[in-house]
Amino acid sequence: MDGADEIEKPAASVKGDDHSVLEKIDPEAHVSSPPLTDNPFYCVQHCTGFCCTEYTVLITAIDAKRILDSIPGLHVYQFLTFYDESVETLNFYPIIQVKGKGHVIGMIQDAKRKTCPFHTALGLCGIHDFSPMVCQTYPFSLTEGHEITYLSKVKCGMLFPPFDEKRMKKTILQSWKEIDEYKSMVKKWNELHGADGDFDDFLVYAGLLKEKPAADEGDEDEEEDDVE
Ligand code: SF4
Ligand code: SF4
Repeated sequence: MDGADEIEKPAASVKGDDHSVLEKIDPEAHVSSPPLTDNPFYCVQHCTGFCCTEYTVLITAIDAKRILDSIPGLHVYQFLTFYDESVETLNFYPIIQVKGKGHVIGMIQDAKRKTCPFHTALGLCGIHDFSPMVCQTYPFSLTEGHEITYLSKVKCGMLFPPFDEKRMKKTILQSWKEIDEYKSMVKKWNELHGADGDFDDFLVYAGLLKEKPAADEGDEDEEEDDVE
């Protein structure tokens, strides 16, 4: 299966009743709060990062590259893992074929805290300025007419309005541009290497690993066991 061909833009899934949620919000009630995208304390004051703990946070290779470029010395396997394609992708993330099986990439979930490695004890995002696009835009999306709305399957308890709509729209459009670029990258990988390439090969292909680590005996079995 070539999953990359089946992915749709999120705007296509935001329709009708989803817009009504904006009408229920009194913008005046939030006037004294700081903009979400400028102030990471906004969310923690309200819910201590519910979205960071409730979701499997899927990302693109472009998100991962941005994180690696921003934290010198960080290794990709310190925060990124491959999930089986059965996780909820919201039809947004392309399916990567690895040795013929479908996967997506996402943030590792800490076994004890059940959250992303960058989620701090205070509930704040530790990489707010270069967090994945899904984190920067959540829970917003755009209608087909480019009006701000909420994602249709949102779990955010606050449903706060964005304070700077212009900036949020720009970020959402950037995230769509990046997902298109990532889909092309994955489609090409699937065509060229999907049948026999392994996880490390994909990371090298995507520019997230400089070179493939030397193979140890039994590596292949361990690699399969690592997939969540
Ligand atoms: S986006 Fe919503 S769910 Fe996530 S931390 Fe902020 S208020 Fe909580
Ligand atoms: S990168 Fe930041 S916002 Fe995204 S899941 Fe991790 S802690 Fe939460």
